[in-house]
Amino acid sequence: PPRVGVLALQGGVREHARMLVGLGADVVPVRRADQLDALDALVLPGGESSTIDRLLRVLDLRDPLRAAIAQGLPVLGTCAGLILLADRIEDPAPGQQTLGVLDVTVRRNAFGRQADSSEETVATVLGPVRAAFIRAPLVVSVGEGVEVIARRGAEPTDTDAPIVGVRCGDVTGIAVHPELTGDATFHRALLGQAAVRRAG
Ligand code: GLN
Repeated sequence: PPRVGVLALQGGVREHARMLVGLGADVVPVRRADQLDALDALVLPGGESSTIDRLLRVLDLRDPLRAAIAQGLPVLGTCAGLILLADRIEDPAPGQQTLGVLDVTVRRNAFGRQADSSEETVATVLGPVRAAFIRAPLVVSVGEGVEVIARRGAEPTDTDAPIVGVRCGDVTGIAVHPELTGDATFHRALLGQAAVRRAG
């Protein structure tokens, strides 16, 4: 089975792990750089992006993670995970950095506070996906070569609708939490990318 890491420093680790196990993956909770080598894919969960960023740097995990992604490790970031992937944050917490592996700008907490959380169906290139918005980020701009794959609207092609999912190569970021609704669309896609990487 594919070996899929879930970055396990803070946030919604367990829900992703459960989902991936359900899809037949071997799941590795990643806390050290030496665990990255054996992975076929990686999930960066939601949580608090500034906290995960700080822990990544304290644990000397940031640079190895950047390198692994640059070398083609398929990665799915959800919510705070998307923020970590982004090149730019419009409104970073004091001192907050990112991995900077996806040419987009994000705005944190763009859809309101925790109390404004909602479960919705978002329009994606993989079809409608049921997912939760929890202090979700908005993608405010997208660089060349980055594909918009999800919008908070009826169609992923509706350019008036807010961008909530992006992809560039094997790097995918979505602003929402499908692991909380049990919608496995994006996890399945990640396992597909993992299989391609294994075969190559
Ligand atoms: N607002 C959070 C952040 O800035 C993300 C919230 C989430 O992951 N559910 O990291």
